[in-house]
Amino acid sequence: MKSTYKQQIIIVGAGPAGLMAAFSAAQAGASVLILEKMKRPGLKLLASGGGRCNLTNVLPQQEFMKAFGRNGRFMRDALNSFSRDDLLEWMRAQKVDVDCVDGFYYFPAAARSSVVLEAMVQVCQENGVKFRLGEKVEKLVATKEAIQGVQVAGGKVIYGKAVILACGGKSYSKLGGSSIGYQLAEQAGHKIIMPVPGMVGLKTIERWPSCCTGISLDKVRISIDIKKYRKQYFEGALVFTQDGISGPAVVDISANVNELLLEEESVPVNVSFFPEKKEDEISGMLKKLLEENPRKKLSNIISLIFPAALAAALCDYAGDLAGVTGAGGIKAAGLPGKVFKSLNNILLSCPLWVNANQGFEKAMVTRGGADLKGIYPKTMESRLKQHLYFAGEVVNLDGPCGGYNLQWAFSSGYLAGQSAALEASQ
Ligand SMILES: Cc1cc2nc3c(=O)[nH]c(=O)nc-3n(C[C@H](O)[C@H](O)[C@H](O)COP(=O)(O)OP(=O)(O)OC[C@H]3O[C@@H](n4cnc5c(N)ncnc54)[C@H](O)[C@@H]3O)c2cc1C
Repeated sequence: MKSTYKQQIIIVGAGPAGLMAAFSAAQAGASVLILEKMKRPGLKLLASGGGRCNLTNVLPQQEFMKAFGRNGRFMRDALNSFSRDDLLEWMRAQKVDVDCVDGFYYFPAAARSSVVLEAMVQVCQENGVKFRLGEKVEKLVATKEAIQGVQVAGGKVIYGKAVILACGGKSYSKLGGSSIGYQLAEQAGHKIIMPVPGMVGLKTIERWPSCCTGISLDKVRISIDIKKYRKQYFEGALVFTQDGISGPAVVDISANVNELLLEEESVPVNVSFFPEKKEDEISGMLKKLLEENPRKKLSNIISLIFPAALAAALCDYAGDLAGVTGAGGIKAAGLPGKVFKSLNNILLSCPLWVNANQGFEKAMVTRGGADLKGIYPKTMESRLKQHLYFAGEVVNLDGPCGGYNLQWAFSSGYLAGQSAALEASQ
């Protein structure tokens, strides 16, 4: 039942987390003001899922949390307060039909993120939420113990009973990404875990991937070749780029690689081109191909299983690693054993060294942000400053590709909004 109290809650950021927080606080009876620095709300939401908005996925809660790594456990209360099923029901209540097209990913049936954004803005407005667009929050206004409001660009102070930081991460500045959320959190005494780009393409020291630009492979397995990380791998498509590798499997592993790049100049990764085949099946396949085509050049034989440019690049790479130049041009019958061995190893697990990434401007999420230790998971309230709440990507939680990050934004936004409204009513 709707309560009768009216208190002002200020939400910084009109992304999915801020909009859901606004709805939930307003529905709980609070008066809510959203401040958004861009001219329009939800720009990142609009761009999400290639403009189609992958809202969430079918994974059970435990597995869903696991996909966020060690920090995933922090999400339990938020997911309990607003689960995937709650989200789907909520979308349908706003007349947004949702489809699970391929049995895993949920998208709006209209295949347009704009329907989600429009529905969120509309339901917020129906519940009395006020929007101020083009309004950038620059500072928190606070006593030693508690938040009192915010200061916006130009110096004006807006007071409120609670402030919810839903400023998102640092990536894609043209869609509103910036470091300001971290600065505001720091101002309240919160520790910031060093932000690094997540869900982003990786640059390799090896130059040969550039010869294969645009070639994509449907399913590879990629892992970091460092003992601690070897058991963790990601599977999915890989795309070769002008300066390295990208695609779902690569972007999923990218945040882990980028964290290591804070300490190391380069990070070794392994790409298995045939994740479903065993070692002996791969060498059997290679042997058979060579035996059946003794007069053909190695690169022509390998182009029976890979696009020609990739086949040529892999053969030469195998030759280079074996100390034989121009291996792609050698006929199968005369192939030195060491080149066979090297190529066999590459087909099994191709080593690459990553030394950079495509940067925050192309990163779909940010790893890092407000340290979870400073936030109560049950309410999303700050442990350090009363009346300050967090929601969405501004905190140190990021998931892989596939609706994980939006579900987190919705769930944490919902919980933060409810908790702030409850507190403001007391
Ligand atoms: C291209 C792209 C595709 C993606 N696709 C998917 C997908 O399909 N599925 C998925 O789950 N995730 C996807 N993501 C990730 C997902 O969009 C984000 O994790 C999610 O938007 C985070 O929500 P948020 O509300 O926390 O932050 P944001 O969406 O970033 O919103 C934060 C808002 O706060 C505003 N803001 C920041 N600072 C201030 C300030 N000082 N004052 C006022 N306003 C401020 C920003 O302008 C912004 O509008 C994608 C991301 C990108 C970039």
